[in-house]
Amino acid sequence: GGSVHIESLSKVYDPDGEHVVAVDDVTLNIDAGEFITVLGPSGCGKSTLMNCIAGFIEPTGGNIYADGEVVNGPGADRGLVFQDNRLLPWKTIEENVELGPKMRGAVTDGRARRLLEEMGLDGFEDAYPAELSGGMQQRAEIARLLANDPEIMLMDEPFSALDALTKEILQEMLLEVWDEDNRTVVFITHDVEEAIFLADRILVMTAAPGRVKELIDVDLDRP
Ligand code: ADP
Ligand code: ADP
Repeated sequence: GGSVHIESLSKVYDPDGEHVVAVDDVTLNIDAGEFITVLGPSGCGKSTLMNCIAGFIEPTGGNIYADGEVVNGPGADRGLVFQDNRLLPWKTIEENVELGPKMRGAVTDGRARRLLEEMGLDGFEDAYPAELSGGMQQRAEIARLLANDPEIMLMDEPFSALDALTKEILQEMLLEVWDEDNRTVVFITHDVEEAIFLADRILVMTAAPGRVKELIDVDLDRP
């Protein structure tokens, strides 16, 4: 599993009677195991598209299918990482990572610790989010996402608040995780270099809200 099909997707916001077309009739196919970046300037509708795929926003038109099933609302098959960290500040790093599986009644069985170790956070299991650096918090976020074992990883500018070196390290880590587990990744960025470095395929959204202008295939020649 892990394929996403988006068909004639639209999202119109109506704040105070104002008509904001954030996503305008977008159709696109993402194959299972693909790493896609969505590139475009601020305000073009990237987050709206992502939140529709995640099931946090109800589209005003069209459909989203995950493995052929229409997606309504959030699901265990899809997990989202945001730019600003959403770790619960009153819970430890390990508790944060365990939260999703526990809520679904899954046996956690030391998996959180293993994931944190994989992300280079061993020794910080009992720390609270505010005690960690920005890069470490984002690594904990990725561990939290992986703990839910989603087939589709949705990432909304997860590294954009980080310094260049930290960003590079986390990009490499993400590619390793993606490569090992053959997950589908949809990654939003407004950073052209980042998009090219990470992606199999780049989806360009233009400043005209929601209008997908071009699909560029980037052959990264990965070994
Ligand atoms: P991006 O992620 O590319 O910056 P967004 O999806 O956040 O773009 O926003 C696309 C457009 O929709 C923008 O014009 C934005 O102002 C508008 N928008 C986003 N969320 C809302 C909302 N909740 N209510 C009204 N307008 C919104
Ligand atoms: P990161 O790439 O994780 O953002 P930083 O440059 O912020 O890394 O920090 C480098 C290293 O310093 C971290 O990997 C960690 O070992 C240590 N470190 C940073 N912040 C803290 C902290 N608040 N408590 C303990 N160790 C820290």
